[in-house]
Amino acid sequence: MKKRISPPKRRRTRQRMAILEELCSTTLHPNVAELYGPLKSRLPSISMSTLYRNLDALRQAGDILELQIPGHNKRYDGRTTLHYHVICERCGAVRDVPEDYVSLRPGLRGEIDGFELTGFRLDFIGICPSCRNGGSDARARSHVLEN
Ligand SMILES: [Zn+2]
Ligand SMILES: [Zn+2]
Repeated sequence: MKKRISPPKRRRTRQRMAILEELCSTTLHPNVAELYGPLKSRLPSISMSTLYRNLDALRQAGDILELQIPGHNKRYDGRTTLHYHVICERCGAVRDVPEDYVSLRPGLRGEIDGFELTGFRLDFIGICPSCRNGGSDARARSHVLEN
């Protein structure tokens, strides 16, 4: 689990370290709103714009990954080593694909049909346990109706 070392001139603030710790302590790939709650209880002075700014700095330093989920808010990942994601096609939830599930290790050298390779994306798509059970929102609603 080697992490890229940031250049020394890039000062890591306490807030930035707390955000990184929060992201490294979960496998839920939280979005900004989901990160903000737990961070706010640790760092009451943190604002949403500070959080955005720090996430951007962490991403640029290569300390976190920013995940684009079509139709949903961006999610963030404290795990920056090569791994793949399974994404819920209904709610946009993201989890890591177990390493032994896929042995594909795409190379980043050379060309494909004249394209110079600069990276790759590989996502698995599925339906998360919550959505398979009708979704927690749907359950909560039906619970209210039953009462
Ligand atoms: Zn889902
Ligand atoms: Zn991940």
